[in-house]
Amino acid sequence: MSIFEKLESEVRSYSRGWPTVFDRAQGSWLYSEDGKAYLDFFAGAGALNYGHNNPVLKKALIDYIERDGVTHALDMYTVAKRDFLEALDEVILRPRSMDYKVIFPGPGGANAVEAALKLARKVTGKESVINFTNAFHGMTLGALSVTGNSMKRGGAGIPLVHATPMPYDKYFDGAYPDFLYFERLLEDSGSGLNEPAAVIVETVQGEGGINAARLEWLQGLSELCERHDILLILDDVQMGCGRTGPFFSFEEAGIKPDMVCLSKSIGGYGLPLAITLIRPDLDVWSPGEHNGTFRGINPAFVTAAQALRTYWSDDELEKGTRAKGERVAAVFEELVARYPDTGLIAKGRGLARGLEFPSGEVAGKVCAAAFDRGLLMETSGPDGEVVKLLPALTTTDAEIKQGLDIITESVDAVLSH
Ligand code: PLP
Repeated sequence: MSIFEKLESEVRSYSRGWPTVFDRAQGSWLYSEDGKAYLDFFAGAGALNYGHNNPVLKKALIDYIERDGVTHALDMYTVAKRDFLEALDEVILRPRSMDYKVIFPGPGGANAVEAALKLARKVTGKESVINFTNAFHGMTLGALSVTGNSMKRGGAGIPLVHATPMPYDKYFDGAYPDFLYFERLLEDSGSGLNEPAAVIVETVQGEGGINAARLEWLQGLSELCERHDILLILDDVQMGCGRTGPFFSFEEAGIKPDMVCLSKSIGGYGLPLAITLIRPDLDVWSPGEHNGTFRGINPAFVTAAQALRTYWSDDELEKGTRAKGERVAAVFEELVARYPDTGLIAKGRGLARGLEFPSGEVAGKVCAAAFDRGLLMETSGPDGEVVKLLPALTTTDAEIKQGLDIITESVDAVLSH
């Protein structure tokens, strides 16, 4: 038995679909210890938008470590943190006329979500939060309470409360007008709905099955929140940092969330970093009221600042992401057309793409067939029925083609039996 099976908890998961031991990584490639190359179309679940060991970010990181730059500093002022905040301000916030303050909540996406939920409750004095069907916001109790997946909720061990799920966009396949149900409950004093402090939403539900909300749905939600004085928390942990094209996935909808959660690729290099952006007037916590030991991993500030300056000073990356996303979508549509009786559905936006199969079993077989052919991709959706693609945004056109050829072969191998 390997040390992994002997010692590591049964809760391990990705290693089960990709049963090999990885050693090195570069760009869009991971290499197992026996030297086999795998094209990585999962990219750390969206934490590696700029690829593995990106050379520009690596250089900045090595220089920083070699000059004995501070590694750990709680939330003290450091040169690395200052540079990150300046880069965020200059490259991202000011050009978009965004006025936010920055909370460093702890290193993971769930930390960014917990901070937003806690602060929304503190500001409004209300405990209830509206979430959406098939949402995923993380595994800590607050984040899990606004997450849909019943298997994941089942891990909590206590009731997950103070959250009310509403139907996400197209949940009823267009059978009901949008927001009729939600707005009716809000306006009816007999509905039993607790007055919500906040709504938390993803623009594209990554873990939920690559469900892309229409821009007009997001606009409608934002207007509804404004009309009813509900804070809008935009969880951009997976879809932010350019995954759908623009830096923030909500930019195209032209909405202004009250809080924005970022993690995964904000650190740039796959190093842990998270931020919660908040409207300045919501900045009501007193010093230390929300705290934590790892709220500013300085090497992550260095790679984060470098990534913002390298990739977001112009729109090259954004344009490339859209173009590559369209290429993936075209191949997925071809597969949908090739298997008209199988009920395949092509989904997504930018380089967050999904191909929905009739069952989790079929989608799992397609991922296994792709793994055998040297491609890493995962399933998502309530029953794992959606094959999900999150290639690094820096993946070359040739690599995108190579990966799409493997996917086509894998789908053919599974469906033509
Ligand atoms: N929010 C969203 C939208 C996510 O996709 C994820 C993780 O996949 C999280 C929050 C939680 O992030 P983490 O796993 O870093 O806690």
